[in-house]
Amino acid sequence: MGAHALLSPSSSKRWFECTPSAKLELGFPDTSSTAAEEGTLAHEIGEAFLNQHNHPVPAKIFKLKLDEFKKHTLYEDVMLEHAENYAGFVLSKMRRNSYLFVETRLDLTKYVPEAFGTTDAIVIDDKILDLSDLKYGKGVKVFAEDNMQLKLYALGTLEEYRMEFDIEIVRMNIYQPRMNNIDTWEIGASELLEWGENILKPRAEMAFKGEGETIPGDHCRFCRAKSRCKALATYGLELAKKDFVQPHLLSDAELMEVYGKQEVISIWVKAVSDYIFAQAVAGKEWKGFKLVEGKSNRVFKDAAETEKLLLKNGFKDIYTPKQLLGIGALEKAIGKKPFQEHVILIKPKGAPALVPDTDSRAKYEFKKTAAEDFGPVEEDELLN
Ligand code: SF4
Repeated sequence: MGAHALLSPSSSKRWFECTPSAKLELGFPDTSSTAAEEGTLAHEIGEAFLNQHNHPVPAKIFKLKLDEFKKHTLYEDVMLEHAENYAGFVLSKMRRNSYLFVETRLDLTKYVPEAFGTTDAIVIDDKILDLSDLKYGKGVKVFAEDNMQLKLYALGTLEEYRMEFDIEIVRMNIYQPRMNNIDTWEIGASELLEWGENILKPRAEMAFKGEGETIPGDHCRFCRAKSRCKALATYGLELAKKDFVQPHLLSDAELMEVYGKQEVISIWVKAVSDYIFAQAVAGKEWKGFKLVEGKSNRVFKDAAETEKLLLKNGFKDIYTPKQLLGIGALEKAIGKKPFQEHVILIKPKGAPALVPDTDSRAKYEFKKTAAEDFGPVEEDELLN
């Protein structure tokens, strides 16, 4: 039942925040993405490295195993590096008397009906449980603090090993190599158990029955019902219907209201337009709209033939100047060691991004003051 249980740990933030979502999603197809397949492969390689610690095989056999992974269409050399570093990270949690459990299937039904989950890596050292989760995504940074999926896995682990270990502290780690993100959060085992019993369990029961209110938020991003969800649409549209104070121009406070909601509204607008487009391509006629041929760029009918013909006719100046390869391609071309020896990389300061003040990143430091750089427009200048 695990893989197809209604309430999965990976979607737990969603069904916890919006309890009817899991049932609503049932009406929409569950498609597997390339990113998910890529993540599965990265996990399998990480698992192989960790198993080499628990059940080592001779180097030759291990190499053969890695060679198998290399045959996968989504395999990239950097995956091996990330998986090895991930395993190194997990093993760095081990002390002399620690136990390592890799890809452990956990029964979560004490808290969530019909739910099972698989943790990537568990290290138990006397009274400390260290749980690590490899995230191979590179789109959205994942944090450990209050992470629902990890809390569920931790509860499952406490239940699974409660006879053997007297765990007091639970540490949860996110290892997300493609976003340079390692994040750790800690909670007392008794506090977590209390949360599981008193908060999680009743929410999970509501979600299992499809009860409660649909509540939009950034958890809607991967909800399969988002294109048709009325609560999400209402959230987006209520802003448009709002009576703003000034007749013509928005005040700073009103602009901030729009800005604060733009992420969820963008999720909704994109979901609706993706859904309508996919249906149109599948043959559905939408009143007032039609499918047309979009813009396309000119291409050579036969590039090699064109080149030959031009050279034959005396045209020589037909090539772009030679350029240095991009960083990834250059490392691949000359090899990792020479790359480290001869290539110096710098990381330029990233462009400023405006995020909620709860974000853990430090405040952006301008070379000059922000006003000198960008020259803000004062609210009074516009409204008075
Ligand atoms: S789109 Fe958001 S509000 Fe609507 S059902 Fe899904 S999670 Fe709930």
